[in-house]
Amino acid sequence: SVYLSDRVQKVKPSATLTVTAKANELKSQGIKIVPMGSGEPDFDTPENIQKAAIHAIKNGQTRYTAVDGTPILKQAIIDKFKRENNLTYTSAEVMVSSGGKQVFYNLCQAVLNQGDEVIIPAPFWVSYPDIVLLADATPVIIETGLEQDFKITSEQLEASITNNTKLFVINSPSNPTGAVYSQTELQALVNVLKKHQKILIITDDIYEHIRWGNDDGFVNIVMTDKTLKNRTIILNGVSKSYAMTGWRIGYGAGPENIIKAMKKIQGQSTSNPCSIAQAAALEALSGDQSIINTMIHAFEKRHDFIVDALNEIDGVECSKSQGAFYAFPRVKGLISRLGLKNDIELSTYCLEVLNIALVSGSDFGAPGYVRFSFATSMNNIKQAIEKLNKI
Ligand code: PLP
Repeated sequence: SVYLSDRVQKVKPSATLTVTAKANELKSQGIKIVPMGSGEPDFDTPENIQKAAIHAIKNGQTRYTAVDGTPILKQAIIDKFKRENNLTYTSAEVMVSSGGKQVFYNLCQAVLNQGDEVIIPAPFWVSYPDIVLLADATPVIIETGLEQDFKITSEQLEASITNNTKLFVINSPSNPTGAVYSQTELQALVNVLKKHQKILIITDDIYEHIRWGNDDGFVNIVMTDKTLKNRTIILNGVSKSYAMTGWRIGYGAGPENIIKAMKKIQGQSTSNPCSIAQAAALEALSGDQSIINTMIHAFEKRHDFIVDALNEIDGVECSKSQGAFYAFPRVKGLISRLGLKNDIELSTYCLEVLNIALVSGSDFGAPGYVRFSFATSMNNIKQAIEKLNKI
């Protein structure tokens, strides 16, 4: 279209949001959809957090705040990094944004030029490549599959680096696979990155708290090697850990000059994140943490059930994951058994014929797979499995 920029025409709408919209359309026609598409906890925001927000409204915390967040919330974020990650940040090294998504957007706008390459391991969160494209840079995808537990090797990382590599993205626990990198695996990547001092790193820790199994606690790439701290940006937020997706609070931490540039982008686009949501996020980070364990227990139970049940289905192979709330089975056998062409057709079939909303693997850079979100009731999960068992 003559009116649209080249930039906007390079990107596609968020696939996960599209599935939700399609499912809602069917729902409005009176069709009952089993919701396994969307990536948000099915729990309500805890009462203490709701109350903090109501208090903020009544208490006049309804005006603009500093662009990068209220000083008190920034302090709670600094305390969180110290307490949970043993990382020390100053106030100038952290900022609050409207969701973790905006942290990634700000970073890309702040550091990327045309011709810059951004290394993104697949399967990836749907927004990474498009946000990179919106910054006129080029996504470079490293492919992984079920056999390697959806984790890249140091050899793959090394092979994907060129003179144009500007940024490396790592997300663990991962959306859409739930894979979690161990400290040893991270160390192997660190060894490669240490040979390439010019590369910036972003670690997306949004699922930090949503882990199970017997790991030794959360670890990211900066915690693995603190010498990377001066070129790593941490993305985190309250959406997933505290069932607060709608509140839109995320935060970033990194080198002062980069945070300052990200703040400039935010100051000229959305300005401060919602003042009321910031007050709620303060309570989330510094108040009662019991919601986290409640959710983890539910997610782990659902995970164990759905992984076993999916593996029982002819043509479906699903590995166990260690975190997040997604099952990411390979469904090539099922696709051919149903006479379909690919995972995109399968997800359409699931939505329109079986009335199960899920997202095709292609949207995450992994054709032949589909993503089931199990951030939904056990009852819904059982219904989905029953329907799948009949085909
Ligand atoms: N990173 C990953 C891997 C995600 O899955 C999401 C949400 O789906 C986000 C970041 C951003 O979440 P929010 O913008 O709600 O903080």
